Amino acid sequence: MQNKFHLTKTDIAIFSLATLVIIIGIIFCITPTAYTKASVTQLPESADPVPPTIAPTPATSDNFYAPILMYHHISDTLPMGPYVIRTAVFDNQMNWLKNNNYHVIPYSQFYEALTTKTTLPEKPVVLTFDDNDKDQYENALPILKKYDYKAIFFIPTAYVNKRGGVMTWDMLKELLNEGMEIGAHSSTHPDLRVIPRKQLYDEELIGSKKILEEKLGISIKYFAYPGGAKSKKVVQAVKDTGFLSAVTTIYDPNHTYKDNPLLISRIYVGNSMENFVDFINGRNLYKSH
Ligand SMILES: [Zn+2]
Repeated sequence: MQNKFHLTKTDIAIFSLATLVIIIGIIFCITPTAYTKASVTQLPESADPVPPTIAPTPATSDNFYAPILMYHHISDTLPMGPYVIRTAVFDNQMNWLKNNNYHVIPYSQFYEALTTKTTLPEKPVVLTFDDNDKDQYENALPILKKYDYKAIFFIPTAYVNKRGGVMTWDMLKELLNEGMEIGAHSSTHPDLRVIPRKQLYDEELIGSKKILEEKLGISIKYFAYPGGAKSKKVVQAVKDTGFLSAVTTIYDPNHTYKDNPLLISRIYVGNSMENFVDFINGRNLYKSH
């Protein structure tokens, strides 16, 4: 009986070879799976694991460059000041944008891009004017027309038609006819952070939006904080009133698609071409609140 199970050297060799083949086969079956798993687990959890050779999307892809320029007076007669720009300088600034392949876009287009991630033209710029100054109509509008640039004008409504040096309702209608956009800039231009809640809502926000819509026959969607003054309460009130977006005096030409549309940064523009170019390029920016 024992002989029946006796293994010759040949039997042992065949058995060993078969065992070796099986072991090698098992190793080949297991190893690719093991490598694949190792590669996938090296990627961040947020990344799509297939295929593993593609790097995860960098967070910076949410950023985009679109300076929003903030203007006040365009005047050759007012004393020089931080909010006064000479007409020739303004013309030079617009010319510089043209010669350097910037594309002036309406604020509404910026807002659409921000909220829907639609593509903007290369080197986009937005032009904004605050405070309803009459020299904007007299001096800026002809230059905007010359370059076929569209801007948005933020109007403190209590002053329309009411005192010298401000635009009338007819002038605002003409701005619209020329393709400009109009937003609200409160009624009386107070520090919105410190006024009573009723005044904040009824007069400064709802009131300014309503009168602009009634007088001009358009929907008013955008707002500029007077003096850039804002607080959590003020931002909420602007939202409650139905404004889609609001601009600040936070000086930054860069935006991200995650930005709160009610806290949009702008660039201060002074009476200097050198600073203008610096600011457009995000250099030496004075950081406001
Ligand atoms: Zn203002």
